[in-house]
Amino acid sequence: AEGMPRPEQTRIMIVANQKGGVGKTTTTVNLAASLALLGSRVLVIDLDPQGNASTALGIDHHAEVPSIYDVLVESKPLSDVVQPVRDVEGLFCAPATIDLAGAEIELVSLVARESRLQRAIQSYEQPLDYVLIDCPPSLGLLTVNALVAGAEVLIPIQCEYYALEGLGQLLRNVELVRGHLNPTLHVSTILLTMYDGRTRLASQVADEVRSHFGAEVLRTSIPRSVRISEAPSYGQTVLTYDPGSSGALSYFEAAREIALRGAGVFEVPESAPGTG
Ligand code: ADP
Ligand code: MG
Repeated sequence: AEGMPRPEQTRIMIVANQKGGVGKTTTTVNLAASLALLGSRVLVIDLDPQGNASTALGIDHHAEVPSIYDVLVESKPLSDVVQPVRDVEGLFCAPATIDLAGAEIELVSLVARESRLQRAIQSYEQPLDYVLIDCPPSLGLLTVNALVAGAEVLIPIQCEYYALEGLGQLLRNVELVRGHLNPTLHVSTILLTMYDGRTRLASQVADEVRSHFGAEVLRTSIPRSVRISEAPSYGQTVLTYDPGSSGALSYFEAAREIALRGAGVFEVPESAPGTG
């Protein structure tokens, strides 16, 4: 839609931050829905045993549902577990079930334990413009599988005290995986989440993040919004739950920025609240 560029090759984005509650899952599902609404084909891979991304996309993920666990541990083809997301054309999800909690341990003894997700994605035959991987809040083998599977790391940062604390560890892991397993890996995108422009703290954190990372930080930040936090309990993203809300508009704008940056365009005209 709207002449947004679609990537020539599938862009695989790993949404990671080992801190919990910073907006990884919220960012994964809402950016994915936005990119699909912009006309792309998008797959969300839920790699968190909590299955919050599956829930937020309205995807059944009770224990018997074929899931990303079967792909990683049982070598089931990804196409056997992918489900379409209702209400959003072009959006798909590989759900996580509670089984995935055991995978961190079960993977240890398997061959190619770090590259099982990469192989599964490479063998997937349906065309995709984007794969967004929602990581658990840890740096174990599940997250390593994600870091091996794609080139781009997207880090959501909550505009709070200690926002940058622990990021060093994630960045070192990115370096390690880049050095040993995946030379294409890099931090491509930083997104400021739960931004409250009325507080000095939020703007201080935003300044700190921008001076630390620079060009990787999206110009659009995501405001704190009740509509964003309500949507998952209806099995919806905010893009369908309340399309006119500031939360929906800001995720849509962030997705536009991501699509344009992928096409080499960094100067995105401002057009939505939550920008700047
Ligand atoms: P993570 O996946 O990093 O643990 P979540 O995406 O689950 O983080 O977000 C943590 C909590 O914060 C959830 O309850 C979510 O609904 C809420 N939340 C995330 N982003 C926003 C936002 N922009 N405004 C309001 N609440 C948000
Ligand atoms: Mg999460």
